[in-house]
Amino acid sequence: EKPPVNGDFYELAKTLTDEDQVVRMRVRDFMEKEIRPIANTYWNKAQFPMHIIPKMAELDICGLTYKGYGCAGRSALLEGFIAMEMARVDSSISTFFGVHSGLAMGSIYLCGSEEQKQHWLPVMQRMDIIGAFGLTEPEVGSAAAGGLTTTCRKVGEEWVINGQKKWIGNATFSDITIIWARNVEDNQVKGFIVRKENPGFKAEKMEDKMALRTVQNALITLTDCVVPEADRLQNANSFKDTANVLRMTRAGVAWQAVGCGRGAYESALKYTMERRQFGRTIASFQLVQDLLVTMLGDLTAMQTMVYRLSELQDGGILTDEHASLAKVFCTLRMRAIVDHARELFGGNGILLEYDIARFVADAEAIYSYEGTKEINSLIVGRAITGESAFV
Ligand code: FAD
Repeated sequence: EKPPVNGDFYELAKTLTDEDQVVRMRVRDFMEKEIRPIANTYWNKAQFPMHIIPKMAELDICGLTYKGYGCAGRSALLEGFIAMEMARVDSSISTFFGVHSGLAMGSIYLCGSEEQKQHWLPVMQRMDIIGAFGLTEPEVGSAAAGGLTTTCRKVGEEWVINGQKKWIGNATFSDITIIWARNVEDNQVKGFIVRKENPGFKAEKMEDKMALRTVQNALITLTDCVVPEADRLQNANSFKDTANVLRMTRAGVAWQAVGCGRGAYESALKYTMERRQFGRTIASFQLVQDLLVTMLGDLTAMQTMVYRLSELQDGGILTDEHASLAKVFCTLRMRAIVDHARELFGGNGILLEYDIARFVADAEAIYSYEGTKEINSLIVGRAITGESAFV
C-alpha cells in the first residue's frame, strides 16, 4: 500500500476543532480549485490575478484573529494553518493575503484609533479595500528600527511626507498603504494611512523579480505628500508600535515557510512514486527515500514549532524572540526542503509546469523578507545573552 501524500505526518490538523477544520478545508479547496490551475501562468506573467479577490473575500478570513470590526476573533493557530494552506499551493497568494490581512489591517488594528478601526477594518475585512505596508526604503532595510529616512513634518492639522519606499507588496493597486516615516520634530516613527489617489503618492511596479513574481511590489515615491492628522495612526508613537505589528506577522511568515516546504515535499513525494527509472519507481531507491525522510523530519519539526508558536500567541505571551526564532528556523529548513524536492525532479525540477521551480524561487523571498536570517538571529541572540549585537 502506497503511503498517502500528506506532509502533516504527526496529524496536527486533527487537533483543530470541527469549526476550524471547516475554515481550513474551505481555504484548501479555494487554493486547489481557484489558484493551483493558474498559479504558474500568473507567476510567469508577473501579474496578479485580480479576479480572485472577490472569491477570496467569500472565504471570510481577513483579520481572522482580530476582535470586533467585522473580524471573527478566531485563534492564531487557525490563522497559522490558513497561511500554511495558502503557501502550500502558492506563496505569492499567501504573501498578498499576509500583507493585506496581517501587515496593513494589523497596523490599523494595533495602532489605529477607535474611529480609524471602525472606518477601515470592516471594509478591509470584506476586501472591498486592499491594503499595503510601506516600511522598507531603497537604502534602509534591516536598519529600519533606527534609520528611516522618509520624513514627516506637521504643518497645522496636516502632515507632509517625503521619501521613498521599496519592495512594497500590493502597493501598485492597493487602495491604501500604511507609510512609516520619521517625525523631524522628535525623531520618532509615525504611521500614516495614505490613499492611492493622493497626488503626492506614486507607486511604480518593480519589474524582473525572480521570486514571488505574482506579488506586485512597488517602489513608492512620496513627494510633499499631504496627509490629514485624521489619517495618522493615532496609537503609533514610536518604532516599538511598528514592531508589535511585525511580531505578529513574523509568526505568520514562519507558517508560510512551513506551507512552502510542505507543498514542495508533497509534490516531490508524489513525483517519486510516479516517475520510473531502471524499471521501478524512483521512490523505491534507498537514496531517494533517505532524502524524503530528511525532508519530512524537517517539515515535522517546523510544524510542531509553529504550532507551539501560535499557542504562545493565543496565550498572549508571544515575544519578539519567539517569533524570530521560528522565522529563522523555518525559513532555513524550508530552503533545504525545496532544494531537496527540486533535486528529486531531476531535469523537470527546472520546468515551471512541475511547480517545484516556482517553490525554489519563492522560498528565496520568504527567506529574506520580514527580517533576514541575520536580523532575526540577532533578535534571539540579544534575548538569550542579554547583549545586543545590533550596531
Ligand atoms: P539589507 O538590510 O541591505 O541586508 C543585506 C544583508 O546584510 C542581509 O544578509 C542582512 O541580513 C545583512 N545585515 C544587515 N544588517 C546586519 C547586521 N547588523 N548584522 C549582520 N548582518 C546584517 N518591506 C516592506 O516594508 N513592505 C513590504 O510589503 C515588503 N515586501 C517585500 C517582498 C519581497 C519579495 C521582498 C524581497 C522584500 C519585501 N520587503 C518589504 C522588504 C524586506 O522586509 C527587506 O528586504 C528585508 O527587511 C531586508 O532588507 P534589505 O533587503 O534592504 O537588506
